Amino acid sequence: MTAQPESARFLIVGPQGSGKGTQGVVVAQAFGVPAVSTGDVFRANIAGDTELGKQVKSIVEAGDLVPDELTSALVRDRLEQADAAPGFLLDGYPRNLGQVADLDAFLVSRSEALDAVIELSVPREESIARLRKRAVDQGRSDDTEEVIENRLAIYEKETAPILGVYRERGLVLEIDGLGTLDEVTARIFAALAERGLVPAAAPAE
Ligand code: ADP
Repeated sequence: MTAQPESARFLIVGPQGSGKGTQGVVVAQAFGVPAVSTGDVFRANIAGDTELGKQVKSIVEAGDLVPDELTSALVRDRLEQADAAPGFLLDGYPRNLGQVADLDAFLVSRSEALDAVIELSVPREESIARLRKRAVDQGRSDDTEEVIENRLAIYEKETAPILGVYRERGLVLEIDGLGTLDEVTARIFAALAERGLVPAAAPAE
């Protein structure tokens, strides 16, 4: 167990293919908090053919957003678990302004607040190129050409605006997502450190 800074409540936001899943796990591990990816939770439920999986399968496969009520309830349940008491890193949530309001209400009810919002920027062309590659490598059913377009369009329309809200609150760390994974990781830790957000132990190599 690593000792904790006072709290480590982070969001990682970026377009599809920005590398947020990978970077999110690295940051969460360093701070000793769980990385919670709503996309991963939905995919695991679809793969396991659970009730939730059945409910969301066609939505996820079309690249559309799962209804806020369902998604926000799922995130609340996860954040109420003991391992998320010192903090968490949310990847893929909130994804629109309604979910921002839901998360705000939840955190306020617990007298908690976010510490930072990590914004990973990559140009649209690079996003598309990475997703095409991932389609070949991983065969994710929502990485088809048409569904990629839909997910990126939803990102630009629904998700990008949440950054305006968090920017006004002074929470956003803008990180250039181009470069090697290690370069991007180093940028994230440097930006967090500027805010005094430093993991108790140095991040594992
Ligand atoms: P990507 O960022 O590459 O689209 P994710 O793994 O974050 O992949 O999400 C995959 C899919 O899961 C989304 O296209 C959407 O259908 C669903 N999903 C994930 N997070 C949310 C959310 N916060 N709200 C609604 N739907 C979500």
